[in-house]
Amino acid sequence: MQALVLEQKGKLSLREIDLPLEVGPGDVKIEIDTVGVCGSDVHYYTHGAIGPYVLREAMVLGHEAAGTVVEIGAQVNNLKVGDRVCMEPGIPNLSSRASKLGLYNVDPDVRFWATPPIHGVLAPYTVHPAAFTYKLPDNVSFEEGAMVEPFAIGMQAATRARLQPGDVAAVIGAGPIGIMVALAALAGGCARVFISDLSADKLKIAAQYPGIIPVNVREQPFADVIAEQTSGWGADVVFEASGSPKAYQGMFDLVRPGGAFVLVGLPVEPVPFDVASAISKEVRIETVFRYANIFDRALELIASGKVDLKPLITGTFDFSQSIAAFERAAAGHASDVKLQIKLKA
Ligand code: ZN
Repeated sequence: MQALVLEQKGKLSLREIDLPLEVGPGDVKIEIDTVGVCGSDVHYYTHGAIGPYVLREAMVLGHEAAGTVVEIGAQVNNLKVGDRVCMEPGIPNLSSRASKLGLYNVDPDVRFWATPPIHGVLAPYTVHPAAFTYKLPDNVSFEEGAMVEPFAIGMQAATRARLQPGDVAAVIGAGPIGIMVALAALAGGCARVFISDLSADKLKIAAQYPGIIPVNVREQPFADVIAEQTSGWGADVVFEASGSPKAYQGMFDLVRPGGAFVLVGLPVEPVPFDVASAISKEVRIETVFRYANIFDRALELIASGKVDLKPLITGTFDFSQSIAAFERAAAGHASDVKLQIKLKA
């Protein structure tokens, strides 16, 4: 079948490729409808690697997907043909130690779509375990379904933060993931979420949500604004969502004594940070790697109307225009939050 294939760094083609479509007893076959273009897909396209994951052979891109069930395995009883679904792109080994602990996202054997050498889903069909396939509520569109995956990262960050009602949060970076984190923090009970960036365009998109307060760090240091707004106390929770090494300079000035610092953004190189500052405030440091047991809860929030991701879908391309979609994403327009590819008209 036709798929969007990353042949090597910098070279994409839309071409025929053989992908396994055998439906095992616990699997479902899904006709793909919508796939979001993710920063990680774009990074493989432009750099050919993310940390230890290096592209060594042609790989189909795409891991933020929604579609329709067209076939079910003999043992599947939670889904039926015709169900509209979204999929969790990581498949862990369910008998691994990590899975048994409920931490299947950090199972060393997890197979994650569009992470070399595992193919992604920018293709008309895929086969996936029913256990990691989620029925979309009737009022949740395919486009929103394909937004669940990036939102799940924000939800995982909010969960790891152990937010309490009325918390004040600070989010460093107003890219797609920063905005997802801010929305999840609000849904998790934060009273106010400050978000910082250098780009006025990105901040404008974030600021359309009540409760999210934009801070342009070209105009004022983020720590000054947080100090001013919290009577010098600091934010209860700070989320690092930029991945920029610069964010690590003075990072603990943002957080209150006894607060939490949650690392979401992935810096490409090792970064130093000020341990003494963290210790003097007894800051709790948390990290986020993808998500576990989040998709159901993300869908609940979207279906309830408490979280509206639709304004973040800023561009839609036909499958035949997939390469153009990636070129657009790689150009990094500040006003593009999420570009999506529609496989079905
Ligand atoms: Zn993604």
